[in-house]
Amino acid sequence: MTSFTPHWQRIQWDDVGMRIHSQTARDVERALAAENPGPAEMMALLSPAALPYLEPLAQRAQRLTRQRFGNAINFYLPLYLSNLCANDCTYCGFSMSNRIRRRTLDEQKILSECRAIRAKGIDNVLLVTGEHKSKVGIDYFRRYVPLVRQEFSSLMMEVQPLSQAKYAELKGLGLDGVLVYQETYHPPTYRHHHLRGQKQDFVWRLETPDRLARAGIDKIGLGVLIGLSDNWRADCYMVARHLLYMRHTYWQSRYSLSFPRLRPCTGGVMPASLMDEA
Ligand code: SF4
Repeated sequence: MTSFTPHWQRIQWDDVGMRIHSQTARDVERALAAENPGPAEMMALLSPAALPYLEPLAQRAQRLTRQRFGNAINFYLPLYLSNLCANDCTYCGFSMSNRIRRRTLDEQKILSECRAIRAKGIDNVLLVTGEHKSKVGIDYFRRYVPLVRQEFSSLMMEVQPLSQAKYAELKGLGLDGVLVYQETYHPPTYRHHHLRGQKQDFVWRLETPDRLARAGIDKIGLGVLIGLSDNWRADCYMVARHLLYMRHTYWQSRYSLSFPRLRPCTGGVMPASLMDEA
């Protein structure tokens, strides 16, 4: 069965980093003028050489955005259902070894949260849980996805990666979209930050978008935790390659990208590379 893994294996992390840093102003100008930008253009646009070209880049992005979506902004609101988690990730407060009060919402509490969200005029909701197979796994989702779905026009999830069959079942219960971030495409960094639990399985996570698309999920969100690896540009390039692969292989689904950034903070994990505002 096809998956992104063999494609990813052919992309050399160090080579990507070097090529991004060797891009020139001419490469950036060529990328900006390209009708159908691809991986080579992505390298130029992510490179330090692109910094003086932010304005034309933003203008082109704006033109494309207006063309595709009109003058519209969509809002969604995350609904945190549970902070239980059976993983240990260095950068997350939900990690199982953290001694915090754990809570999982029951039917009554979920409904009252839904009503509060609706009262704010928000009609799209993202269900969020930690990764805990037995307590907030498929049985929990089976019970509550239909309940939440009937309150909103669209429903997305950001939970543990599931099998294709389970995604197909949840789609039948009203699931429209799933966000699943790879965190980093650099395996040594991934190993360093994922210390315990199912999330240690890099490839299971990497192939989640494949399983989602095969299950017919309409909207799939990709991303990395920018700053986790020491080369945020290389990680962003990897997301772009993943997206291109997905669009090419599973054109029936729609895609979104997220850009969560690690920021320096006291007591937390320090970013290994800093993406600034520009
Ligand atoms: S799996 Fe998700 S919720 Fe659990 S500790 Fe890691 S980042 Fe946090």
